[in-house]
Amino acid sequence: MSATSEDETHLMYLHLALDEARKCVPSPTAFCVGAVLTVRQPGECNAAVLSTGYSRELPGNTHAEANALAKARQLTSAELQQIMPYAASHTTIDDALSQADIYTTMEPCSVRTSGLAPCADAVISARIRRCFIGVGEPDDFVRCEGAEKLKAAGVEVIWLSGLEKECLEVARAGR
Ligand SMILES: [Zn+2]
Repeated sequence: MSATSEDETHLMYLHLALDEARKCVPSPTAFCVGAVLTVRQPGECNAAVLSTGYSRELPGNTHAEANALAKARQLTSAELQQIMPYAASHTTIDDALSQADIYTTMEPCSVRTSGLAPCADAVISARIRRCFIGVGEPDDFVRCEGAEKLKAAGVEVIWLSGLEKECLEVARAGR
């Protein structure tokens, strides 16, 4: 079965997420993950990138998905208007996020011991529509139930195939 152009588009954003993951400072105790938030452009097959994030990009032991969400929330209304020129001028970042998809190189985490909210919870509370995942989280550190948690909350979860090995290799760069 050959990949449709839509599959290729999703893989393109996963490649962007991988580029983010490669920016991580490797850690022996945590994965290197990258994430990209996109919003659909009406009438176009490509989406616009709202923000990106990677593990430990923001201060603290922060995660890629949470960082992408935090960076999206830091956009000014002028920046948001530039990313979504078709959107009504009163569109807020919360509106934008509720139409957004997230691409992540690894399944969003479901448990955090650091006191920060798990990424699955952050994705759910932002009301993200769909979560595209490069590879499941191996149980190097904890057992991950992120995908199950997202699905239970009504977020569509899509496992992309083809870049699992690459996503895992980048994730384990510090190990
Ligand atoms: Zn996380």
